[in-house]
Amino acid sequence: METHMSVVAVGAGPANLALAVAVEEMAPDLAEETLLVEQHDDIAWQRGMLLPWTQSQVGFLKDLVTLRNPRSRYSFVNYLHSIGRLDDFINLGSSLPFRLEVSAYLQWVAKSLERVQVEYGRSVTAITPMSSRGDGISDLWKVQFDTGEVIRARNVVIGVGRVARIPGTFQDLPTDRLIHSTDFVSRVTQVDPEAVRRVVVVGGAQSAAEMLWTMYQRFPATECRMLMRSAGLRGYESSAFTNELYFPSFVDQFHAGSAETRAQLLQEMHRTNYAGLAPGMLDALYRQMYQDRLTGDTRIVMHTLTDVLATRMEDDEVVLTVHDRLRRTTDELRADLVLLGTGFEQDKPSLIRQTAASVGVHDIAVDRYYRMVTAESVTAGCYLQGVNEETHGIADSLISVLAVRAGEIATDLLSPRAGTSALAVTAANGLSTEGKGD
Ligand SMILES: Cc1cc2nc3c(=O)[nH]c(=O)nc-3n(C[C@H](O)[C@H](O)[C@H](O)COP(=O)(O)OP(=O)(O)OC[C@H]3O[C@@H](n4cnc5c(N)ncnc54)[C@H](O)[C@@H]3O)c2cc1C
Repeated sequence: METHMSVVAVGAGPANLALAVAVEEMAPDLAEETLLVEQHDDIAWQRGMLLPWTQSQVGFLKDLVTLRNPRSRYSFVNYLHSIGRLDDFINLGSSLPFRLEVSAYLQWVAKSLERVQVEYGRSVTAITPMSSRGDGISDLWKVQFDTGEVIRARNVVIGVGRVARIPGTFQDLPTDRLIHSTDFVSRVTQVDPEAVRRVVVVGGAQSAAEMLWTMYQRFPATECRMLMRSAGLRGYESSAFTNELYFPSFVDQFHAGSAETRAQLLQEMHRTNYAGLAPGMLDALYRQMYQDRLTGDTRIVMHTLTDVLATRMEDDEVVLTVHDRLRRTTDELRADLVLLGTGFEQDKPSLIRQTAASVGVHDIAVDRYYRMVTAESVTAGCYLQGVNEETHGIADSLISVLAVRAGEIATDLLSPRAGTSALAVTAANGLSTEGKGD
């Protein structure tokens, strides 16, 4: 017999973990009927770039709960306290935790959930509508797993992150010669330092710089080239003024703005989150290159204003055809390994697109409460997390807004339209701080 849940949350990243906590705290009965599934056998935060020396770019108070419920036991501070490391963290004197400890915090939250079930090693392959009464109204989702299993759900919340962008120029290279940042940590351990003497990193943002730095440190005999379209590495733009646009409270204003103003805001804010480097990384790289020039070591080479036109394999080497826009020259670069810091696709992940298409939606949009807009004949709810920058602002894919957004989705899940309001009797235990205005 097929299992029936009120909510199936797909992907146990920070977004759906925050939701799981919000549902537990705001609606314990609904939490009993909520399932969170993760394709991996464990939880890790951005596992491809989980390098031990890297820090989060968002302060620890912007954890999964605090901005929604500062009294929650699922806070980062309580996590540190529970493992006896609160003193250490305070003494570090930084509000930015290491990525490793954020990742461990996420695992701790998942393990500490009391009502929401978390299942690992299960990938959702398709979500399609169904009608429980056979009256043409799609009031349930059929959630299919790679195991062949099927679960029926009144609502789904898709929080599967983003899809790695591999530009077409690189797609024909053999997989052992190409590593995207999303696979970097697992793949770099398999790299043979004897075989890899020349590495090319493509991209000019934080992940590209972190990969370059790692290769430089780990492989002392390897030449590390960095190819970027921009004029040079630069820092994230940050000011306390523009940082206010990352406040969860700004989502309302952004959402209410005209399409034109929203586009302007996203454009102006672009360099606060993309195409930049954290100050520490920028400084470390520049100082290293400065010292290397002093000693005549030229292992790090930057190619700016450069486009990769083509790649091919020749004599067991990767050959990159590169165009220098300043010098107006086209050359060939030979390398043993190419690392891609080329970011993520703009398109929504295929699971979202296919789910939308299954209910006749091709122009995907969510309402203010992150529920996909569908025809009235679809009463089953589909909520999308982390893919709504255009309508909900630049912080949508970040941790900054997760706690409050989770509360908003949980509140919507308890509204009559989500069909779970009967479970709301034990809700409203005073923990929600952001009820819907309508
Ligand atoms: C290198 C890097 C550093 C970053 N640093 C920061 C930072 O410092 N601060 C910040 O705010 N943001 C940062 N971000 C942005 C990041 O997107 C968010 O921090 C956050 O991880 C988004 O959470 P999420 O749950 O939406 O997605 P993700 O964290 O990507 O989680 C999605 C989860 O869904 C699972 N999944 C995917 N498909 C399926 C499926 N079909 N079935 C089951 N499970 C599935 C994945 O395995 C994954 O566990 C960083 C991103 C990167 C790439």
